[in-house]
Amino acid sequence: MHIFLLLSALTIQSDSLSLDRLTPAMIDSYMDRHLAEAHASLERLLRVRGPRTIENALRPYDEMRGRVNGTRVVSLLRRAHADSTIRAACERAESRLQQFTRGLRLDPRVYRMILAIDTTTADAETREYLLEERTAFRRAGVDRDAATRARIAALRSDLTRLEQRFEANIAADTTSLAFATEGELAGMGGDWIAARQRGPRGEVIVVGEELQAVTRQATDSATRARALVAAWNRAPANRAVLDTLLRVRHALATLLGYQSWAAYQLETYMSGSPDSVRAFLGALQRMAAPAALRDFDARRGARAWLVMSDFTEAQVRGLGVGGLGPALRPYFPYAQVRDGLFGLARDLLGLEFRPATDSPGWSPTVETYRVYEGDRLIAKVYLDLRASPGRSVQGAATGVLRGGIRGGPPVEVVILGGMVPRAEPGLMGPQGVVTLFHEFGHLLHVMLSARPYYWTSGAPPEADFDEVPSTLFEQWAHDTAVLHRIARHYQTGAPAPDSLLVRMVAAAPQGSGIALQWRARMSLELHDGSPDRVDSIVRATFAASQPAGVDVRLPAAEIHPEDTFFHLSSYEAAYYTYLWSAVISQDILSRFDRGLLDTAVVHAYRRELLDVGGSRPAMESLRAFLGRPFNLDAWARALR
Ligand SMILES: [Zn+2]
Repeated sequence: MHIFLLLSALTIQSDSLSLDRLTPAMIDSYMDRHLAEAHASLERLLRVRGPRTIENALRPYDEMRGRVNGTRVVSLLRRAHADSTIRAACERAESRLQQFTRGLRLDPRVYRMILAIDTTTADAETREYLLEERTAFRRAGVDRDAATRARIAALRSDLTRLEQRFEANIAADTTSLAFATEGELAGMGGDWIAARQRGPRGEVIVVGEELQAVTRQATDSATRARALVAAWNRAPANRAVLDTLLRVRHALATLLGYQSWAAYQLETYMSGSPDSVRAFLGALQRMAAPAALRDFDARRGARAWLVMSDFTEAQVRGLGVGGLGPALRPYFPYAQVRDGLFGLARDLLGLEFRPATDSPGWSPTVETYRVYEGDRLIAKVYLDLRASPGRSVQGAATGVLRGGIRGGPPVEVVILGGMVPRAEPGLMGPQGVVTLFHEFGHLLHVMLSARPYYWTSGAPPEADFDEVPSTLFEQWAHDTAVLHRIARHYQTGAPAPDSLLVRMVAAAPQGSGIALQWRARMSLELHDGSPDRVDSIVRATFAASQPAGVDVRLPAAEIHPEDTFFHLSSYEAAYYTYLWSAVISQDILSRFDRGLLDTAVVHAYRRELLDVGGSRPAMESLRAFLGRPFNLDAWARALR
């Protein structure tokens, strides 16, 4: 699972927070100071007399928003920090920040100022920026009457609170299962079992998120069944939270004049509408049917619904089971993987990572680097990759601490995740390696997309493009030439045998994708219609995700996988983004006909898809790189 937090270009003063010595009071006063400054600069801006120009209106407005957005460092620390009092202070600060942003978007004075800016001599990027701003204000409801605006603000405030609660309930969940003997956990590996808690009679206790690993890897089907039902009943407090969350989103969408939250949300995405997402998912499903039947036949021994326990993300990618993890792990000590990534950034893009030991992070396990292109400092990067208790990030995430603008101070980025075991030498399984490559793809995007405005820097406004650079970069972790550079035994230095690497290469992300289809459909349908049928939507979308000829059933037992479906908070209706991005990545990949280390193609990709940031629509950037609109042909070929 990968979450790309804080999607837009941001700026801040993370440097004005001493990240290694945070206290709740510091966070409170940090937010006080920044919001006071933002209010003051906004009032100054609104008082300007005479015609509104790019220089006297758009530029200062962009800088103000960049500074305010930088304070979203608190959203990141809310998820990443080990201290619960810091996390609570960050939650408060985040709510205040969102209140400011809501107020800004609903302020008719600011909207009028944006509308009044003269664009006759503006360049294309500036016009694109203004077009997006005007759309964003309109979508926020700024042109409604005062009573409606107050109602919108109240609903948005409810949403912030409910989303925070939903994520916190998942993080705090301690659902556990006890296994009487280690035999019941066959397939999990001795190290994994040794690292678990023990009960009074020596039983092995598996807690919370750890249950997922059992559903994927345990060889005993009764064990997988118990783990799966337990995993699908975690965070029961979220039943009521999600119910309310969906109702509030629906109420807000209809108040704004849309059929549903999905229709509202997807309006500014590349897909454009729920129907276009349905058509996309249907096309993929038909294409994947033969592969799904193959997968299904291969596992026919298990009770039908238990087959689903294998169809998790890792399994879809072929990395979750089958002994590949334990065999490959000794060849991927963390430092070697990290230095391998830095080496790729150097050889492919001319970027150099240098340790910044003078600049500590929020935990002793955080590593800090400065990134140079030639002699220009372009980024500061924090890597917080060690598994640690108490943090609520699930899987991995890349977040922007400070947006960059061309010629300005460096962008600051963090990668969060628990993919590196705490104990040295941090031997990473193949899934962890692929996840780190994925996040590194996000990192490259953020570092290279500095534009003249904060708000056109970073990812383009179509949020279903966000996972393209990351999904694409995963392919480098499935490439023999790349793996030869990185995979060496941590004790002997011997290269990984080709027989193993071949299997990692073959495990590239195609396949039946039933689990991804299910999540994508669930996330869409829960947000497209009246939000009072959660249980039936969960089951119906499962059935709809089966390709023709496959008849897998969910367990009859009560299950609520939606309660721990983290993306319902952050991706809302748009979980399909992962499949959408995978298809686009495959299309991009078809241009690399001389291998992934071909710098000419890498440079073209960088120029047309990364450097451009949000300065033009993502569809245009894709067309510029591919020489045509993207299509599903490469995906279909890869499935064969
Ligand atoms: Zn991602």
